[in-house]
Amino acid sequence: MTLGAGDSGLGGTPRAPGKRRPVNVVPHTHWDREWYSPFRTFQLRLVDLVDKLLELMETDASYARFLFDGQMAAVDDYLEVRPENEGRLRRLGASGRIAFGPWYVLMDEFLVSGETIVRNLQLGMERAAAFGGAMEVGYLPDMFGHVAQMPQILRAAGFCDAVVWRGVPTAVDKTAFSWAAPDGSVVRAEYLLGGYSTGASVGDDAKAFVRRLEAYEDENGQFLLGPDGPILFPNGTDHQEPQPWLGRVVAEANAMQDRFEIAISSLPEALAGAPRAGLPEWKGELRSGARANVLMGVASNRTDVKQAAALAERTLERLAEPLAAVFLAPERYPSSALSIAWRELVRNSAHDSICACSHDEVDRAVLHRYAEATRIGEGVAERALKALASSLSAPCHVAVNPLARPRSGMVELIIGGEGPVEGAQVLDERVGLAADLVLTATEVRGVLAQIGEQDQMGDGAYVAGVDVEEDDAGIDIAVRVLPERSPDVRIAEIRTDLLARLALRPDARVKVHLDQASSRRVLVRVEDVPGFGWKAWSTGPLRDPVSAAEEADGRIVLANSLVKVVLSPEDGTFAVNGLPGFNRLIDSGDFGDTYNYSPPEHDLVVDTPFAVSLSLAEVGPVRAVAIAERTYRWPERIDEGRRARTGEREVVVRSRVELRAGEQLVRVATSLDNTCRDHRLRAFFPLAEPAAHSSAECAFDVVERGLVAEGGPSEKPLATYPSRRFVRAGGLSVFHDGLCEYELVDLAETASREADSGDGTRAHGLALTLLRATGMLSRLTMVNRPLPAGPVEPLEGPQMQGPRTLRYALSLGPGDDYALADDAFCDLPVVSSLGGGARALEASLLSVRGAELSALRRVAGGSLELRVFNPTPATARVELRSGSEHAPGAGEPGAPLRGQLVDLRGRHVASFEGSFELGPHGIATARLVGR
Ligand SMILES: [Zn+2]
Repeated sequence: MTLGAGDSGLGGTPRAPGKRRPVNVVPHTHWDREWYSPFRTFQLRLVDLVDKLLELMETDASYARFLFDGQMAAVDDYLEVRPENEGRLRRLGASGRIAFGPWYVLMDEFLVSGETIVRNLQLGMERAAAFGGAMEVGYLPDMFGHVAQMPQILRAAGFCDAVVWRGVPTAVDKTAFSWAAPDGSVVRAEYLLGGYSTGASVGDDAKAFVRRLEAYEDENGQFLLGPDGPILFPNGTDHQEPQPWLGRVVAEANAMQDRFEIAISSLPEALAGAPRAGLPEWKGELRSGARANVLMGVASNRTDVKQAAALAERTLERLAEPLAAVFLAPERYPSSALSIAWRELVRNSAHDSICACSHDEVDRAVLHRYAEATRIGEGVAERALKALASSLSAPCHVAVNPLARPRSGMVELIIGGEGPVEGAQVLDERVGLAADLVLTATEVRGVLAQIGEQDQMGDGAYVAGVDVEEDDAGIDIAVRVLPERSPDVRIAEIRTDLLARLALRPDARVKVHLDQASSRRVLVRVEDVPGFGWKAWSTGPLRDPVSAAEEADGRIVLANSLVKVVLSPEDGTFAVNGLPGFNRLIDSGDFGDTYNYSPPEHDLVVDTPFAVSLSLAEVGPVRAVAIAERTYRWPERIDEGRRARTGEREVVVRSRVELRAGEQLVRVATSLDNTCRDHRLRAFFPLAEPAAHSSAECAFDVVERGLVAEGGPSEKPLATYPSRRFVRAGGLSVFHDGLCEYELVDLAETASREADSGDGTRAHGLALTLLRATGMLSRLTMVNRPLPAGPVEPLEGPQMQGPRTLRYALSLGPGDDYALADDAFCDLPVVSSLGGGARALEASLLSVRGAELSALRRVAGGSLELRVFNPTPATARVELRSGSEHAPGAGEPGAPLRGQLVDLRGRHVASFEGSFELGPHGIATARLVGR
């Protein structure tokens, strides 16, 4: 919720004589489950509210309808405390008096993945099914703007209606519009002019209520759909309890006038009678601040939360689910564990949670949920990788590809031996050692208790064999340790045998001879690992090595055949293929809050380090790394009274610039110990050519945006936009790990608020926000936003104090941004096999071509389900084939696969054999038969 300026100065509309204007009063509450108070605090308030609601609805038929905020999480939160009331809620749902769902939470749409949005909807509808079914309206009351593909997502779930508030542009001048997704899917969007609280707190006074409706009509008449067009009057606001007199007041109001026909309605009832033809049309995302603020600064607030979100989503979507789907037998697919992880992700996607415009305690809970989901994802992935390793036919190290596209990449291994390895970069060597120890039997038992039945004695140290000899003098144990696991080491048997011998001779002297072979930690590159497959690494020449050198003038050069990076000792920036000025860091004041960036009245911008030192950390041939260490003097904080930056801190910022063999990506990790407050730190990159627009990844598509944004009286129009994993402009692609905010800027202007470069139509650079440190949940008066957007409350967490590492990657020139985004942050997992299985050392188990993959998983019943989308303007053909492996029951390698396309409820849409067509910007969900 936010406080914002309403519309004013709009004329009234002449009324048709004798005809009453329908007014649909929709009682509801907007339930932010965690926000300025922690979850449990709000949960207890929710219990009070729903207790009263049940009592009211069961005893007063005139309180006819209630909208449960479009989300099932609040229902589960209530039932966690009041499980005995589930039947009462179900009865009210089944009779149509309470509308449940369709969402599980009211998410933010820009800061989470498309997949999280879909899982949220599916989880909500699944839960709502137990309460009489979900409300068939895409209710989106408070989200801070809306993604372009939302109409397509809603249509794929069978909905024809959306309800929105924030983000609607001035081009929409009615209380409803026809909203199209990039693929052409259209929903009717009811526009909550003035918000979801316009009818909040109706007092026990019918006359006052009628006056309020008259004022609303007079003020907003020109937005209404004709002189008799209906008014939607949402009777509720944040955490508002029901007003028990509402039914009576509505009846009295109807009796005392003939201007309005007032009814207490459900949202579907209100929309059923609403005009659908001749509405204004809008295609694409809704991000205008014209009539309500979109709070665009949430994208860069608490980047730690966004980093945790990116990691968790990546771990589930691009690692755990596809690996488990492909490499675990259907009956071993860990559905329950993955459901737990997804529920955590979905809960965190709630707008106040992922946006982190919340109490510090809430942010800690959000981070904990992301960590739990990530741990589940990692554990699932590990089990799937072990299953693959045990099925391979010979000892090997294999790189595994959990995604559809064939990929090459760097992996780290520990291998036996000494000295250089062809095609590999040796990171460090462990020289072999031979040690003789004399221990007592008790000491040996202690060691065995510690080791347990593990054959692993450390990183790259596995027991390969144990020989035991006994004579009158004592027991001699010889232990051989190798860097790789050996087959047929019966640790349990060896252990039992040793413990028996020690028990018989408790006073024996035990000689232990430890023989550990030499080993090396190496980086290698594995080329062309098939999609949903694996490939063993073998020594051989490196195709496109990377080199690194320090030149006489102090510059450091990293280069492979695709990219040359030159770091400047002057300012620590670097040039890419001759284009200088990458990674300039600009620090400025931020007198905003968790919702909006806002400069102090007297800003001080620092873009020049006073000390720079460059060093080479790794020189190739697989990975070259240079370190740019820059020391800045940044103001310490903003003085509230003077509204100016004050004090000074020396801050060392360390950027690790990395180039890998065979890759066009320049990877950067920028680290600092943030001891300054009230500031914004951005990294600047030059564009290869001036740009008039950017293309940013958002849910299931790439959206194009210009250089300006639309603002309004309640929010200045900053063109700081969100991107999910990448943004492209002027020949530059920037990939990031949870750094969701970018802005196209003119590099000449360090303050960089404007993107114009003289003629105002082209930008020359892109700024990526690394962190925004602020100290208020919401602030009273700001340059960029005149009114508060939430409680005016100081917070410590958003100051982002302490060590921070921000990761991003750059690519100049042409390239597939989706492929590069995966390369940048989804390393190929690697696993070592002992052999003993039947599988070849390279194969794929499934082939998906022609579209981007959003998900591959198993659904109830065990079938493989995949979701793909086509981010291009051309029709695509999605081909589904079995992989390259000959396996019993799997059919011929490369055979076309059969299946059906389903909607987001799992309902049949069409059958396919081998392939199906996917229109421009389309999303499709396919289930495979017999896989
Ligand atoms: Zn809200």
